[in-house]
Amino acid sequence: MVDSRCGTLCRECHYREQAGCQGCVKIEKPFWGESCPVKACCEAKSQEHCGQCETFPCGLLKQFAYDEKQGDNGKRIEQCRCWKEG
Ligand code: SF4
Ligand code: SF4
Repeated sequence: MVDSRCGTLCRECHYREQAGCQGCVKIEKPFWGESCPVKACCEAKSQEHCGQCETFPCGLLKQFAYDEKQGDNGKRIEQCRCWKEG
């Protein structure tokens, strides 16, 4: 199930219960801020997730995925690949 634009698995995220987040596919803006540039970019291209993008994985997505504090060492990029291969 595709539950985020960037490949984060929302069902494994502790904010789901903590912040009552339903996942960025279902909500208009992320609970953690006004907007997410990855979500905005992906939705502007009418894509379900970043794996469908012709520039996947782009610099912005990599920046998010490999961020020292918030990143997941590229796990979400791999997840997008899985979704793409279906
Ligand atoms: S980082 Fe952005 S695209 Fe990824 S789950 Fe959060 S809101 Fe969605
Ligand atoms: S891979 Fe990058 S350019 Fe493509 S939709 Fe995602 S954030 Fe946007």
